[in-house]
Parts: sequence; structure tokens; C-alpha cells
Amino acid sequence: MQGFPVTRAAQRKTRPSDDGLRFGEVFTDHMFTMVYEDGLGWHSPRIVPYGPFEIDPACCVLHYAQAVFDGLKAFRGADGQVRLFRGDRHAARLNRSCDMLCIPPLDPRLVEDSFAALVAVDQDWVPSKRSTALYIRPTVIATENFLGVRPSRKYLYYVILTPVGPYYREGLNPVRILATDQHVRAVPGGLGAAKTAGNYAASLYAAREAEQQGYTQVLWLDGQHREFLDEVGTMNIMLRIGDTVVTPPLSNGTILDGVTRDSALQLLRDWGIATEERPVSIHEVEEAHRAGRLTEMWGTGTAAVISPVGELGFGSARMTINGGRTGELTQRLYDAITSIQYGATNDAHGWTRLVRAPDRALTDPLPEAASVPAM
Ligand SMILES: *Cc1c(COP(=O)(O)O)cnc(C)c1O
Repeated sequence: MQGFPVTRAAQRKTRPSDDGLRFGEVFTDHMFTMVYEDGLGWHSPRIVPYGPFEIDPACCVLHYAQAVFDGLKAFRGADGQVRLFRGDRHAARLNRSCDMLCIPPLDPRLVEDSFAALVAVDQDWVPSKRSTALYIRPTVIATENFLGVRPSRKYLYYVILTPVGPYYREGLNPVRILATDQHVRAVPGGLGAAKTAGNYAASLYAAREAEQQGYTQVLWLDGQHREFLDEVGTMNIMLRIGDTVVTPPLSNGTILDGVTRDSALQLLRDWGIATEERPVSIHEVEEAHRAGRLTEMWGTGTAAVISPVGELGFGSARMTINGGRTGELTQRLYDAITSIQYGATNDAHGWTRLVRAPDRALTDPLPEAASVPAM
């Protein structure tokens, strides 16, 4: 792995204890940055003290949202080792998101190395308790100062880290979701397959409406027919109908290619469970529920890993799934994925990568702009 120049934070923050960690509220001592300029390409990768950026009010990202991000986690296992989960796949997806937003591509190896190098520098921030993790947030923003509408000629890539607790305090906690045919998240030909800021802004209104009706998440239906399941909140959706696990396909470009989705599908195939990636109509879901064949439903995503659905609302219908409890396959997937993440089980697919400590103890002062040793 390549080394990057490191400027150490002069002062280290107080780290929160593993208990009571929330999501994305405290950030570590360092961040990774790299800039792009037309003609020079991506240059000057480095690790620097975490801190604010100075942004011109005319900076184009503030006006037209030419911005993408990704999200992955590093886990500390019972053996004390820190592992990144599928960093290569997240780096590749960040580049696909960049492409859709006319942002010049990054070197995927460098991106993956940026995760590992930054986590190595701040690795005493990786919490130890099971179901805690260090969340990694790579982001790319357009940074040219102008108000015309065209792709920027300057960009900033940066990575920040935040220690996070379990998504739900009591472990797996079934959520209530509301299918809406009033609002849509994505349309064919749109940006649904990109992890981009605007998609999140566009999801807030419907999410607020669902919350006002007592639901946790929105089940998005497709933008054309308002009939076929797309995603749930910011997670991919899976249903167990009879003995088959069904999930909407990626083919029409409205669904984000989730790494947890891919991992779950792979494990299900390993276990000999039938999987189908095909359009799923909300009417088929209602029908399967009536017939008692809709036995489990869950969302997949890095933050919660697997999120069971206990109730689905659609129009005047209220469908309770598996008595509102976590289903057997839902639990099995959660256990299997998290066991790999914490290094508690054999990682047959090579999904994890060990993050090794820099050679020096972290308390040693490093000279300005020293290199992180090769790992
Ligand atoms: C990030 C995200 C997901 C989940 O992807 P993972 O790689 O599993 O974290 C699903 N849908 C949307 C819209 C997302 O932004």
C-alpha cells in the first residue's frame, strides 16, 4: 500500500467511550484530502488534522450540488485487529457515482488506500464493543467558484471518520415502513444509482411525511408506474416470499448498488437459498401477505447492516410481517455478515482487509509531513 504525507494534529481530542455512541456526531483527529484541478489531475493526497474548510460563497457545490459520497466501516474484532469491509467495492462505487456527476475519476487503489491509511493513523478511535465501528465517509465536492451551470474544473476529495454505535440500541429492531405513491426517489435515466447529495435532499419531504404518520422509513416505489419496489429509506430492500428471497434488480438505474445487498445475496447463494433479482410489484407484496407467503422483509445497508421490517403500510392497508418480529433468515444474515466484519468467522470471500498499525506507536510525535509506513 502506498504511503501518504501525514501532518499530525497538535492536540488530540477526547475520545467518547464505546457506550452511548451515536451516528456521525463526533469526528476523529485527522482527515484525508486530495485536490483536482483541470490540467493537473488529482494531486496532493495527504492526511492532515481534522478541521473546517474555507469555502467561497460562490463555490459551485453549494449551489448545484455536484457532490458524491460513500460510506463504509472499519471494525475492531475480539482479537483487537481492525478490519475494513469491502473497501475495494466502495472505492469502485465512488467512481461510478463520480462518473454520473461528471466528476473526474479517482484511482480506485488510491481511494482504498486512503481509507486504510487514515484508519491506521486514527486507529485508537476504532471502538471495541461488538456492534460499534468506525464509520468512514469519503466525499467529493466541486470547488470552483462560479455560478454558471457546467461541471466544475476543481474538486476536493476528502475522507472523515466517526465512531458509531449500534444502529438500534436493542440489536435488531423491526421498523415500520410506509410505501408511498405520492413521492418518488428516482426515475429511469436519473441519478438513483449514484450516491449523491441531491438524492438525499430529495428524500427528506417524504420521510418527514412518513414520520408524521408514525413510520420509520419510506418504501420507495418506482417513479414511472408508482408500483414496483425500489428501495427503503436509504437501504436496499429484500423480501422472503415462500422459500425465495426476492429483491428489485439494478438494471433500470434507479437503485443504488448496495455493498450489503451484494454481500447478502452472495451469502444466500452460498447457503443454497433461492434468490431472484426481479421487479416486485406492491400488489404482489399485498397478495403474498394475504396468502401468508410474505414471511420476512428487511433492508440492507452499511449503517444498520440488516434492518428487519415489522410492518408495511400502503394506502389504508397495514401489513404485519412475521408478527412484527425479526425473522429467522433476517437474523441469520445479520449474524453472518457481522461475524465476518468482526473477524469472528472465516472470511471465505476475502471481504475484509486488515488495517495495520503504523510502525511507530501513535503517541510518538511524528515529524511534519512524515509518510505513513507502507502496509
Ligand atoms: C448507501 C445506500 C444504500 C446501501 O448501500 P451499502 O453499500 O449497502 O451501504 C442503499 N440505497 C441507497 C440509496 C444508498 O444511498
